[in-house]
Amino acid sequence: MKIEIKEISHPVFNLKDVRLFIKRIDKLHPFVSGNKFFKLKYNLLECERKGHHTLLTFGGAYSNHIAASAFIAKSKGLKSIGIIRGEECLPLNHTLRFALKNGMKLHYVSRSNYKKKNTANFLESLKIKFGDFYLIPEGGTNEFAIQGSEEIIEPIDYQDYICCPVGTGGTIAGIINISNSKQIVIGFPAIKGFEQLQRDINSWTNSTNYKLINDYVGGGYAKINNELVEFINKFNATHNISLDAIYNGKMFMGIMDLIGKDYFPKGSSILAIHTGGLQANQGMTERLGVSLPLE
Ligand SMILES: *Cc1c(COP(=O)(O)O)cnc(C)c1O
Repeated sequence: MKIEIKEISHPVFNLKDVRLFIKRIDKLHPFVSGNKFFKLKYNLLECERKGHHTLLTFGGAYSNHIAASAFIAKSKGLKSIGIIRGEECLPLNHTLRFALKNGMKLHYVSRSNYKKKNTANFLESLKIKFGDFYLIPEGGTNEFAIQGSEEIIEPIDYQDYICCPVGTGGTIAGIINISNSKQIVIGFPAIKGFEQLQRDINSWTNSTNYKLINDYVGGGYAKINNELVEFINKFNATHNISLDAIYNGKMFMGIMDLIGKDYFPKGSSILAIHTGGLQANQGMTERLGVSLPLE
């Protein structure tokens, strides 16, 4: 797959003698997060291999994974079911409208029941309700997702550092697996719970050439502040690249800050993976009244 890589410039990069390249997997689709295509690829093959015609997965009302699963299931001629955390809230937000439009059946479960989603009893009740399905866990992370994420990085990606936003850690685990041992992979978590994340990632990769930097998670998942909103809008005005506020905004704020603090040795090159996720900016804008790039 040919994916655009764009080098961006900034006076600070010259001063610090670093180069920053952005791998635009966000451009794979205007709405569906780029990394979700990679995470779903081998899951779809496995679903087909097992002869299932329905894909079932889980997520919150703003989930990029729900939007992506609905879209990709439809494009492959599969039915899809989304088990959504919490009550139905009308009018539906952008994410859920998109999921419905792509044929996903939405099934809401209370937050307390949602917590039981991995138990045998809960899964059995879903089987009784919906019949046979291929199950993809919340966030889409499983061994097949990691296999797909290994294709995000290609042999031409030679840079010294690879930066990637982190949710469940599936995407970065694939990237770590495929990186060469001289590269350093840096993850920017968007969710609190650093130690669990570290354990999860270590269960999916044997390589140790990575680091999670936890200083840019802000108030936590989907929590934003004025500084972040200003950063995203300024980044867009300067580089003409739209960032989502949940993942990539925080990562790029982190990268720029680290460059300013001499984190990267002189002469280094950095490849940042722009994973997309722009669809969530719509919901944020509607809910919080802030101004963020929408496309
Ligand atoms: C899901 C998502 C991530 C996080 O991916 P994980 O594999 O869960 O770590 C990062 N960026 C965007 C835009 C996403 O939608």
